[in-house]
Amino acid sequence: TIGMIVIDDNGNVAAGTTTNGACCKIPGRVGDSPIVGAGAYARNGVGGAAATGDGDIMMRFLPSFHAVQLMSQGRDPTSAAQNAIYLISSFFPDVSAAMVTVNVEGDHGGACVGFEEFEYNFVDNSSGVITTVPVNCT
Ligand code: ASP
Repeated sequence: TIGMIVIDDNGNVAAGTTTNGACCKIPGRVGDSPIVGAGAYARNGVGGAAATGDGDIMMRFLPSFHAVQLMSQGRDPTSAAQNAIYLISSFFPDVSAAMVTVNVEGDHGGACVGFEEFEYNFVDNSSGVITTVPVNCT
């Protein structure tokens, strides 16, 4: 998956994902990536989230909506991502799932389970600096 969240100077938020597809998928499979709230979600004035992993499991939990909802209630991006991802693994302990989140203050975070490694890039538009952030997967 490539997931992207973009925030403009007015706090408008956009998010989207592509999918690499899943192994052995049946013809016509949709997966989580194009489903709003599953693969990605954005809310103006709050922030956005994008997810990757076992889409057939993850899409049942709308994890991107879940994380953005938590941020709208004051959660920081890391804690919001952890809550959304760990809820899934509490039901499906073998799931591979990861998420990146950012809020309109520019705070960002991620969470992952089942992957050996997961990292995301954060681009600070005012400075142009790109930071690669590793996330510890449980
Ligand atoms: N989440 C995607 C899917 O299940 C796979 C991926 O690209 O991570 O379609």
